[in-house]
Amino acid sequence: MNEDDQSDRRKYEFKKVIEELTEYTGSGTQLVSIYVPPDRQISDIVAHVTQEHSEASNIKSKQTRTAVQDALTSIKDRLRYYDNPPENGMVLFSGAINTGGGQTDMVTRVLEKPPEPIQSFIYHCDSAFLTEPLAEMLGEKGLYGLIVLDRREANVGWLKGKRVEPVKSASSLVPGKQRKGGQSAQRFHRLRLEAIDNFYQEVAEMANDLFVPDRHDMDGVLVGGPSPTKDEFLDGEYLHHELQDLVLGKFDVSYTDESGLSDLVDAAGEALAETEVMKDKSQMNEFFKELHQGDLATYGFEPTRQNLVMGAVDRLLVSEDLREDVVTYICPNEHEEREIIDQRKNTPDHDCSECDAVVSSEDGEREDIIEHLISIAEQRGTETKFISTDFEEGEQLMNAFGGVGGILRYSTGI
Ligand SMILES: [Zn+2]
Repeated sequence: MNEDDQSDRRKYEFKKVIEELTEYTGSGTQLVSIYVPPDRQISDIVAHVTQEHSEASNIKSKQTRTAVQDALTSIKDRLRYYDNPPENGMVLFSGAINTGGGQTDMVTRVLEKPPEPIQSFIYHCDSAFLTEPLAEMLGEKGLYGLIVLDRREANVGWLKGKRVEPVKSASSLVPGKQRKGGQSAQRFHRLRLEAIDNFYQEVAEMANDLFVPDRHDMDGVLVGGPSPTKDEFLDGEYLHHELQDLVLGKFDVSYTDESGLSDLVDAAGEALAETEVMKDKSQMNEFFKELHQGDLATYGFEPTRQNLVMGAVDRLLVSEDLREDVVTYICPNEHEEREIIDQRKNTPDHDCSECDAVVSSEDGEREDIIEHLISIAEQRGTETKFISTDFEEGEQLMNAFGGVGGILRYSTGI
């Protein structure tokens, strides 16, 4: 079992819960969301919730007041199970959701171990649950090196998912454009260029030290600053050649302090989004190449599943939009068959195709199709790739191939 699969699976499970929570609405501001960072004391959180509970007694509408207090009580009950927040913290949701016809239903969900650490404590009370911070975490992939510089100052750091991490900075001794009296203009100019060159070398060294060890895991390098500094820096090829190859682009950024790193990420937004899609695209291009010219492509639920079970799948490709369940039926004569059904539909009875025995819906074992496939993939050391439908080939995976495909390690003829 490798870590990628683990985190893919966890992310998928999170995504499903978030989708569910996003659909809920409450009347008034009675849906409570609490984000707990890993370093917060549970006792602090309990104190905060107790405080909110007593303040809620001021809410005028009796219905909202009761609903908020019930939600807070339910959260407090859940917090009792914890001495400390789990790794990466936790998120608690509770409230009375509308179920139609003026009816409500009390819902409480605790999400442990989010894919990224919760950064700050949030207490949120609204007509909807606050899911955006979690959704942002799930959208985040990728590791990028960041460099901002002008002739006086430089900062390098990481973009990990959506989080900017400043790491090192340097400042230069490049003299201003104004020369002192008694210095020849030529000599002054030469010294200044030398100082600039030295500074670029220093910045490159700082970036090389930080990025080169991780270059194989990086998705790109972004360089920002005013013109012509960033251009001189890149054109002069000061960076290690492998980093130079990873440069996705240069971007205009006014500040070169730590805040400049965040400005750089904002400025590069479009380029970054494209890179994410490009990663999915290259998987799908490989898939289509094998489909048309090779024999290492598999698609559709059953063939892909069979190949997975054999351990023949190198990469499992699943569409991010796939929302189906798989029901496994075993008839009285031990024939095992599976049926794919819409997640919103009830489990049907099943006629065995081998012996016509009927298996009742209660005897079918129902599971989310993606979880079903990932759990086989995990046992076989197969990597899972989620493919977005934001580009043509990704849409085809969903619509033409049932949302499931794979690239094989060897041809199986299935
Ligand atoms: Zn049968």
